[in-house]
Amino acid sequence: MKFASRLDNVETSAIRELFKLLGKPGIISFAGGFPDSAMFDVEGLREASQKALAEEPGGALQYGATEGYEPLRTQLAAFERSKGVTDIEPQNLIVTTGSQQALDLLGKTMISPGDKVIVEGPTFLATIQCFRLYGADLVSAPIDANGVQVDKLEQLIAEHRPKFVYLIPTFGNPSGALLSLERRKKILELAVKYQVLVVEDDPYGDLYFGEAPPPSMLALSKDVPGSREWIAHCGSMSKVLSPGLRVGWLIAQPELLAKSTMCKQFSDAHTSTFAQATAAQYLKSGRMPATLDNVRKKYAERADAMAQALTRELGDAIEFTAPKGGLFFWARLTGAGGKVKDASEFAKRAIEQGVAFVPGAPFYANNPDNSSFRLSFATADVGKIIEGSKRLGAAI
Ligand code: PMP
Repeated sequence: MKFASRLDNVETSAIRELFKLLGKPGIISFAGGFPDSAMFDVEGLREASQKALAEEPGGALQYGATEGYEPLRTQLAAFERSKGVTDIEPQNLIVTTGSQQALDLLGKTMISPGDKVIVEGPTFLATIQCFRLYGADLVSAPIDANGVQVDKLEQLIAEHRPKFVYLIPTFGNPSGALLSLERRKKILELAVKYQVLVVEDDPYGDLYFGEAPPPSMLALSKDVPGSREWIAHCGSMSKVLSPGLRVGWLIAQPELLAKSTMCKQFSDAHTSTFAQATAAQYLKSGRMPATLDNVRKKYAERADAMAQALTRELGDAIEFTAPKGGLFFWARLTGAGGKVKDASEFAKRAIEQGVAFVPGAPFYANNPDNSSFRLSFATADVGKIIEGSKRLGAAI
């Protein structure tokens, strides 16, 4: 069959192939990007969905507005206000089918074939594929433990004049990196200086382990004159509440929001009203703060266990910065003592030892670092993290 030429540059993810191996009995997986299903607030969601049906069956089961179910937009605006976006109103956001759809809508509304888009190196794999589907020519900006390197970013913006810059400033996937406050402000200034849209993808911002991270770039935009119109923000219920709900949101300036809404209309008409009404009831129930506390505590414990176990079992064979939130460790093989340096080779040996993770190369739009890899501590309990790390030690 002859498919559309836009598919020519997009491959199914290398990671998907690796996931096929995960069915092996007894394997400990650090490979996924899923939150832990054991942490879902099933009771709270059951009550919320029952309330949604009892109190507003018309709203929860009927077709709805493309922009989103009004009570949910109201709750989400309040949720964002509680996180420092003090001036946001329900009409400044649309509900999307996961934040993945918000990214797709941004691709659809902004990218013409051949347009440059700057992403972090490394960045979220599905974004690379999604933007490429729209014909984007991706340019990678390097990162360090404090997020994207602003001087390099400015050089790349000046050189390539991209359609937009895509960042995961808070506990990136896969990097786990946290963009510093200073860099956030500087990037907002760059957005104004170069009149370039900055997309802030923020599914992990609520998952911090100790101190809260700096405010989102969206929240900070009120301190940088003229920057609000240059920031688009993608939020998600997936990592704190449930990814199966498929509830995300997009905040952007009115024109971009209107175009995105139009594109969404042709795509899925609207996000499931049942899911939206359930999410709205959940936020209204007041259970969210306790849920956030719970997931933060449990993931913090696992992240801590992983940091210790990796240091103990792998020593100087790898280097990493322990994340302050999110779901991921991003590490590099150093090759110290003649040990394996290539992460794909290491992944194969690890599978033989009964532990899985994801090599880092596919997360780079250009110039992959083949020694890098991603480990998720989200779905393994502390015992499995310790045992899995021992197996990594044996594999290396
Ligand atoms: N952005 C990033 C950085 C992610 O890691 C993910 C999920 N893995 C998403 C967006 C999409 O999440 P969802 O569609 O479930 O909101």
